Parts: sequence; structure tokens; C-alpha cells
Amino acid sequence: MNLNEFKVEVDKLGIKVTEEEISKLEKYALLLKDWNGKINLTAITEKEQVFLKHFYDSLTLVKIIDLSKIDSICDLGTGAGFPGVVLKIFFPNLKLTLVDALNKRINFLDVVVKELNLENVTLVHARAEEYGKNHRECFDVVTARALSSFPILLEYGIPLLKTCGHLIAMRGLNDSVDGVNALKVLNSKINNIIEFKLPFEESNRTLVDIVKISQTSLKYPRRYAEIKKKPI
Ligand code: SAH
Repeated sequence: MNLNEFKVEVDKLGIKVTEEEISKLEKYALLLKDWNGKINLTAITEKEQVFLKHFYDSLTLVKIIDLSKIDSICDLGTGAGFPGVVLKIFFPNLKLTLVDALNKRINFLDVVVKELNLENVTLVHARAEEYGKNHRECFDVVTARALSSFPILLEYGIPLLKTCGHLIAMRGLNDSVDGVNALKVLNSKINNIIEFKLPFEESNRTLVDIVKISQTSLKYPRRYAEIKKKPI
């Protein structure tokens, strides 16, 4: 999608795009392309594709939650910063924490945060389940795009949330979360599911909003070896 198409589609999401935001996104796209030559960040670096599949796609989160009312947000397995960094550009009110298990991606994000003058961003090089041990009940919202199967993602994300906080999973085709045992074990429930197609290329997208009902048992999250061997 070209810049004009981007503005039109984002406007349909209820977000007015300013020139400052566009200039930040253009800088971000250049950094992505530049760094991708050195370290593996993403398969997508062509500008119009980046604007559609990374920038616009990240912003579709607003279809399921109003971010102007949110204080703290944690993006798990953020990779090159999706959706976290894009959300921060459009919602500077957010206190954003970006978590990734690969340090080279965190190093890239450090440069992005500085070049784009983003404030109140915390970068964490850690595995989600380790970070979750020491940051329980901290966040209003946890996001994760393209990270793990539902039982595992829930065990990573729910412990980090405050009671009544939301875990928003961004996925391709709906790999149904209904009936997943981890929901009950982690005192959480499905609040909403939205399915739609990305404009232009028409690929499937699913947003799943899971709400935390009450505190998580100290048993969770477990160590990765256990999570993997025996998902809840
Ligand atoms: N959210 C990004 C990246 C998805 S790829 C996007 O949609 O473009 C998954 C990312 O999660 C990778 O960067 C990988 O390093 C990271 N990751 C995988 N397992 C993780 C874990 N347990 N904790 C933290 N990061 C993890």
C-alpha cells in the first residue's frame, strides 16, 4: 500500500495520520531495511509491503481495544517492534515495554527508539516466561503478534497482566482458542474475537481479546522446558 492508501485505511480505523507520524514511519522503514542486511529481522522490507503488513497490520489492534485509555502495555516477542513500536508512534500516551528473547532484535529496537525520539519505552532482552516471573500483575494490556500456540501464549501473557487487564493476540487464520484449558487454569476468559481480511492482499487476520479475571497462581509461568513438554 502506498502512503495515500495507508492514510485512507488508517483513517477508516478511526486514526487521523499526521505528517510527523508518517515521517517517523518512513525513518523506521529505512532502519528496518538497513539493519535487515546485517541481522535477520523480517522477510518483508519493500516499503509498500512494510506499510501494509507491518505498520497497518499493527494498527488494526485498535479494532478490538481503545488504546487512548490504556496506560501500560507490554509487547511479547516483539521482533522488529510489531505491533508495539507502531502503536507507540500513534499513541504516545502508552508506557511501552518491548520483550524479545533475541538480543540483536533488542539492539535494533534501541536504535529505533532513539532515532524516532520515543519516550517511556523499556527494552527487555528476556524470554517472556522469565520476565513474567518478576513482573507479575504489572500491565493493563499485553500484546503478541505471531507468537506461539494459545496455551503457551496464555502462560506467557496472563501472569504479566493486572486483574481485568487484556491479552490481545494477533494471528493469521483463527486457530481457535475456544475450550483451551489454559484459560480456566489462568483465571481468564475470552472477551471478544474479531476476524477480518487485510486490505489489498486479502489475507486472513484474527484478533483475540482475553481478559484476566483474577490473580494468577504463583505456579505460572513455569520454566520453558516444562511449558513445552506439558502445555496447560
Ligand atoms: N511480533 C513480531 C515478531 C514475531 S516472530 C511480528 O509479528 O513481526 C516471534 C518473535 O518472538 C521472535 O522475535 C522471537 O525472538 C521472539 N520469541 C519467541 N519466543 C519467545 C519467548 N518465549 N520470549 C520472548 N520472545 C520470544
